[in-house]
Amino acid sequence: MTSRELAQDGRGVRHATRSLKEFLHRLEARSRALRALWPRLACLGLLVLPGIGASPVAQAGPFEFHSDFWLNLHHFLYEQALQQGKPREDLAGTEKKAWDYAVAFYRHSMTPHDLLDDPHMQSIDTELAEDETLSTLVVNGEDGAVWDMLNSVAAIYRAHWWTGQDQANRTWIAAVTPLVQHHAPLLMRQLTTVYEATWPKDPIRVDLAEYANWAGAYTYTYGWGRVHEIMSSTNAGYQGNAALEMLFHEATHGMIPADSGRLAIQIFAAAKSNGVETPNDLVHMFIFYTAGELTRRDLAAAGVSNYVPFADENRLYQQDWARWHGSIEVYWKQHIDGTLSLNDAVSKIVADARGKGAK
Ligand SMILES: [Zn+2]
Repeated sequence: MTSRELAQDGRGVRHATRSLKEFLHRLEARSRALRALWPRLACLGLLVLPGIGASPVAQAGPFEFHSDFWLNLHHFLYEQALQQGKPREDLAGTEKKAWDYAVAFYRHSMTPHDLLDDPHMQSIDTELAEDETLSTLVVNGEDGAVWDMLNSVAAIYRAHWWTGQDQANRTWIAAVTPLVQHHAPLLMRQLTTVYEATWPKDPIRVDLAEYANWAGAYTYTYGWGRVHEIMSSTNAGYQGNAALEMLFHEATHGMIPADSGRLAIQIFAAAKSNGVETPNDLVHMFIFYTAGELTRRDLAAAGVSNYVPFADENRLYQQDWARWHGSIEVYWKQHIDGTLSLNDAVSKIVADARGKGAK
């Protein structure tokens, strides 16, 4: 199977064991050739590339904003492998062959793994963020094949897409930074008060990319409570005031564990004593509601009276969340106002759901 056939074969290729072995064999051969070539290129000064290493682009409130070449390339290849990317008609000859090869690799080796839920994919993000200043990734360890692939198409990505995507990231950062500077102190205070939690002690790294994941952004924690957000700079839902809300929404994911934080434990206890089944992602609904409502209030106080929170704008309070939304609007809002404790608010919300027939 040629690399082009492999590229055109879609997701079914990951199940073809014989093709996979052939692919990995070709990949290993290519990796050896590339590894042999890079030191010579480095000696000639050809790998000292401009535009890499300026980190962060800006800092505002708790956030450090980055436009990282390697993280952008990684996510762009992932997007292309999902066949959601732009067509590659602007590539031809050896460039097209190398790019298609990398996309095929991502299709069968990377896209089966979710960028957010797979701890190994998270570790790749962490490593690429640490490697931001490198002009060439150092190939070693279990991710050697991925690093090889990124190195092999770095020049192609730089020539055809990086300038535009980097510019989009920087334009987003320039637009959002003043908003964050203005609203961050109050939003941080409000969120920690509502969740009775402590704000992450380290700066939160936010990497902007043309593509983040299917949702437009995701967040994971690593090390000793460090928070890493990946956010799309081009997704229409993550612009302007919505970007402000979603930055703090994502930061909340880093602040309160979805299954072991104070809110999650109280929901679990109240559901158990009421004999009510809760959706697995009910904490996420609280996160959507709280970040949206606080952003709406703070923007209104600053003279922006027409902000519609992300979850309302995108009609997220449906299906599993539908029967919970009304009571959160009443009791969780009272908790946000400071007139009802977290425990009492959750107890009333769960009792309300039971009254509506929840089991
Ligand atoms: Zn979320």
